[in-house]
Amino acid sequence: MKNKKEISILIIYTGGTIGMVHDPVTGSLIPIDFRHISDHVPELRKFGYDLHSISFDPVKDSSNIDPGVWVKMSEIIEENYNKFDGFVVLHGTDTMAYTASALSFMLENLRKPVILTGSQLPIGLLRTDGKENLITAIEIAAAKENGGPVVPEVCIYFDNKLTRGNRTTKMSAEHFDAFYSPNYPPLAEVGLHLKYFNNLISYPEKDQKLIIHKVFDTNVAILKLFPGINRKLVQAIIKTEGLRGLIIETFGSGNAPTYQWFLDDLKHYIDNGGIILNVTQCHGGSVEMGLYETSRQMLSAGVVSGKDITSEASVTKLMHLLGRYSSREKIVQSLNNSLAGEIS
Ligand code: ASP
Repeated sequence: MKNKKEISILIIYTGGTIGMVHDPVTGSLIPIDFRHISDHVPELRKFGYDLHSISFDPVKDSSNIDPGVWVKMSEIIEENYNKFDGFVVLHGTDTMAYTASALSFMLENLRKPVILTGSQLPIGLLRTDGKENLITAIEIAAAKENGGPVVPEVCIYFDNKLTRGNRTTKMSAEHFDAFYSPNYPPLAEVGLHLKYFNNLISYPEKDQKLIIHKVFDTNVAILKLFPGINRKLVQAIIKTEGLRGLIIETFGSGNAPTYQWFLDDLKHYIDNGGIILNVTQCHGGSVEMGLYETSRQMLSAGVVSGKDITSEASVTKLMHLLGRYSSREKIVQSLNNSLAGEIS
């Protein structure tokens, strides 16, 4: 069993509100120099772990994070994988669920914790939620049981809850309790104690080597259906040059209008090699194609069920699979299977 000093954690600061303080001169919010993080969170000195940090330069608001940045993050993890016991990624909250999902698909055979966190209020403000989020995320990344990590997964820790990254979605632009995992229970809850639900955590079976998948194909689109959607809009999207995959965000358990033109257009796109994934607009629950007539015909046209996947995981999974495989059959088969615990 390692003692505290021997447990090493790498904090990767990418940007976002958590790393902001007020500029003493102008009063506006500016990113901190991360080398001096302990000045802002002196509690870090008390930990006893071997903490190291690395900062993006320049830091990124998470709205500017894209597959190129995910590759950069994965390369930092790859280079440091054998040197550290766990990783904490500080990230803006806006697209944190996309990044967590993307990393979960990229890091095959992950055996170490990769815990993403951020905050709603900057770390430099008195009422910040950032300190607690950062401190507990480190605690979780460092947690060991029988010599191995307690949570060898890509997760989001936020406001006392640890959730699987590819199951999580941002639900509030206001509350500290900003994230939730609609279709999978939290992996840990934090109160007086850190309570892990080991039966919900995924543990790799064999000691296989980490494989990092770095190619994403961004030729995808998300079409959110609404009552009254017109054909010109649908056609404009499916006729987008080079579009290889389309996610349709449908009603309820995966339902869509049964207008003939709509079904014909989807079928035509699929018959010409396109992939359509059906994901529900609901904030919980699953697509069940064939349950109603309004989804049965899409099933016959070859639309694939997204089951209970989040919107964030669906788009990152599709980009990942399109980058990884050229065979349409293999992509469709992988969409139907859970790659990293993203569907039930
Ligand atoms: N705009 C910020 C970001 O996502 C918001 C945040 O960090 O909460 O980078």
